[in-house]
Amino acid sequence: MTEAAGASANSDFIRAMVRRDIEQGTFGGRVQTRFPPEPNGYLHIGHAKAIVIDFGIAREFGGVCQLRLDDTNPDTEEAEYVDSIIADIEWLGFTPPEPTLHASDYFEQLYDWAQFLIGKGLAYVDDSDADTISAQRGGYGQPGVESPFRNRGPEENLDLFRRMRAGEFPDGSRVLRAKIDMSHENMQLRDPIMYRIRRAHHYRTGDEWCIYPTYDWAHGQSDAIEGVTHSLCTLEFQDNRALYDWYLEHLPLPGDRPRQTEFARLEITHTVTSKRRLRKLLEDGVVDGWDDPRLPTLRGLRRRGYPASAITEFCDYIGVTKTNSRQSIELLESFVRRELNRSAQRRMAVTRPVKLILDDWPVGIDGEPKVEWFELTNNPENPDDGVRSVPFTGELWIEADDFAEVPPPKFFRLSPGREVRLRGAYLVTATGVEKDAAGNIVAIHATHDPDSRGGNAPDGRKVKSTMHWVSAAHAVDATVMLYDRLFSAEVPGERTGEPLDDLNPDSREVLTGCKVEPALAETPLGEVVQFERLGYFAHDPREPLLFHRTVGLRDEWANIQKRQGK
Ligand code: ATP
Ligand code: MG
Repeated sequence: MTEAAGASANSDFIRAMVRRDIEQGTFGGRVQTRFPPEPNGYLHIGHAKAIVIDFGIAREFGGVCQLRLDDTNPDTEEAEYVDSIIADIEWLGFTPPEPTLHASDYFEQLYDWAQFLIGKGLAYVDDSDADTISAQRGGYGQPGVESPFRNRGPEENLDLFRRMRAGEFPDGSRVLRAKIDMSHENMQLRDPIMYRIRRAHHYRTGDEWCIYPTYDWAHGQSDAIEGVTHSLCTLEFQDNRALYDWYLEHLPLPGDRPRQTEFARLEITHTVTSKRRLRKLLEDGVVDGWDDPRLPTLRGLRRRGYPASAITEFCDYIGVTKTNSRQSIELLESFVRRELNRSAQRRMAVTRPVKLILDDWPVGIDGEPKVEWFELTNNPENPDDGVRSVPFTGELWIEADDFAEVPPPKFFRLSPGREVRLRGAYLVTATGVEKDAAGNIVAIHATHDPDSRGGNAPDGRKVKSTMHWVSAAHAVDATVMLYDRLFSAEVPGERTGEPLDDLNPDSREVLTGCKVEPALAETPLGEVVQFERLGYFAHDPREPLLFHRTVGLRDEWANIQKRQGK
């Protein structure tokens, strides 16, 4: 995995292009990229890919990557999102330069340039309504129809455009369009709209404007104003590139013309990476918020316990390609697991507790059941993490499903007459069970071998199972959330076109009354630990003793690879 990761990170077509540009002195050898999110939602794993590319390439080639908020649509944008976008980028390990830039900073310049194009006869005010304009665009292989307003003279256009800005016309009554070619095979060049009249409060410019530039009109020009050299975006903008170039070609630009290059979007199995669809999950109450650990938002993944480095390494590994493809969630998880295996401390937690009573457990000098303390390794992968003391007594919590009164075939854990190891403590043998009136097991009785202190018998006899446990007298109550895929289908919406049809109704299981070792009460909020035998769990960033399962322990990606014969 590591070899391939290194290879893909360094030899993709965008890096090859940038390297060539530097060698040839294009853009004076400068490299400047930008990450241009629209502040209309929180960033998701797809954005992480773009961030890793935009900031990563700038960093690698000694250039700059600016954060520019693409705030041209006042209806959906809010300041609330801006801070979180910056925080999420920083969490991933990149530092957007100050100040943060905004497309709205250029509204006046864009307005001037629009007048320039009008003056050159390259833009006109169209009084047609939206439906007419849309109907007249034609289709693929079918030319569009020229608007009756297309041949207005520059004077009239200028006057109308200025009056559009001055607020003389109602919303939607007129637009400014570039005058290009209504029969161009690229639909983007069929007199695209540059401005719409829209009386909406903008989170930065307030009520200063009642006309707003379209994405296409704002984007390339913003790039040019900032001195962007390589404008990297996703494949859906491929057809827009001709328009991007057309605008730049026809304007008196301050410097070099930036160049747009597209790469494939990141999509992941069993989830959606579109802000619109994510918002719908929120609005429908499917998830609790933008940081619900089931969401692929950076907030959600972070709360779930995904290390930022696992996300960026995954993005480097999948590399930069020109073909859209969906990556397996199991692959992403394998990066998470690998990182956590290195970094997470081991702890014991019993999620579905049942009492285990050692009937032969001695009483201490104080007349109370004796307490023994065992030094357990915090992380076998990292000896520097040291050990912790874990209390052990004659009443313990173990997982209910680690015991079977009548063991099925291949069940090697605890059952009457069977000896197992309690991790790092003692070998114990079950002797019987205690049941309530309804026949439910309320406690398991057992004896221990006092000579097996530390978990190994002096005669070297083998036991098949090692189980985790928590001293009942010292246990701390915790809530544990187990997660499954948010969507049961690999490609949500593939069957019906509606991802919500594939929602997994059991994507979260809440376990209350879990019994965890006392050290977990001291685990810092937000930290991820390994619950022995159960998986990696993140301490909630706000609520003490709430744990989210990040990933299980088994590498499902390895199994998938094996099945595919790799
Ligand atoms: P969404 O569909 O989630 O709203 P978007 O493209 O509208 O995505 P923006 O905020 O405009 O979201 O995106 C900012 C940048 O992130 C753009 O350059 C865009 O190409 C990139 N980006 C967005 N989604 C992905 C993705 N799934 N994979 C890679 N890059 C993405
Ligand atoms: Mg967008």
